Amino acid sequence: MDGDSAISLEELLRSRDVRVEHQRELLTRFPGASLICFTVILPGSVKRDVRSLKVAKAGVDALSQTFRNDFLKDKTDMKDKTDKTEGSQAKIRVHGHSTPQPCPSDLPSCHSGFPSCHSERSEESPVLYQEERDLATGFEAYLVVSMPPEQAKKLCCDIEDTHPLGRLMDIDVIVDSSTSPGMTEELSVRPLGRADIGRPERRCLLCGKPARECMRAHAHTQEEIQSAINVILSKSAE
Ligand SMILES: [Zn+2]
Repeated sequence: MDGDSAISLEELLRSRDVRVEHQRELLTRFPGASLICFTVILPGSVKRDVRSLKVAKAGVDALSQTFRNDFLKDKTDMKDKTDKTEGSQAKIRVHGHSTPQPCPSDLPSCHSGFPSCHSERSEESPVLYQEERDLATGFEAYLVVSMPPEQAKKLCCDIEDTHPLGRLMDIDVIVDSSTSPGMTEELSVRPLGRADIGRPERRCLLCGKPARECMRAHAHTQEEIQSAINVILSKSAE
């Protein structure tokens, strides 16, 4: 399968750098909005396979359900665009207005005369921008929403905690952590923590201890982790 191959540590580290750089770009482009960054939890050197793509699709669906309801069904204002900076594998979908702008919705011609304008439903959707990158180093989705980061993080934690595949999803809300916003040339970014919104930290797939502890201590073998992932995937398919 295309892209279903092991990647090197160097490629993995590079992909993180590119991701952070892209997060900076999006937060700079949408000041004041919250940036959601979705990735699939798949330990090991293969970051893109049938399983990860299943989780990716479920994650994008859940994010759409949560943040745009059935707004996605209206595809009239959706257009496809290829990201020139990331190569052919990266496909970007841009929805609606790229920047918040008033819609002349009081004009009778709006929804018939402006095909690129938002539908009536989009007024309820906080989503300003959405993008998906299907990369060999792992699937990434970005959602820019017009709501406080804490509120967005709560909704993302709900997906991680309640979706049948949520334990295999990493849904970060990225915030500007620059000490003097606007003063530095390059924005500093950081993911909002679960502790920031008073939620307990994530638990290990295998033993239920804080996931961070097990990861740091290499408490479980690759085989154990992979089989735990397969169990979650097969349960969700039932
Ligand atoms: Zn554990």
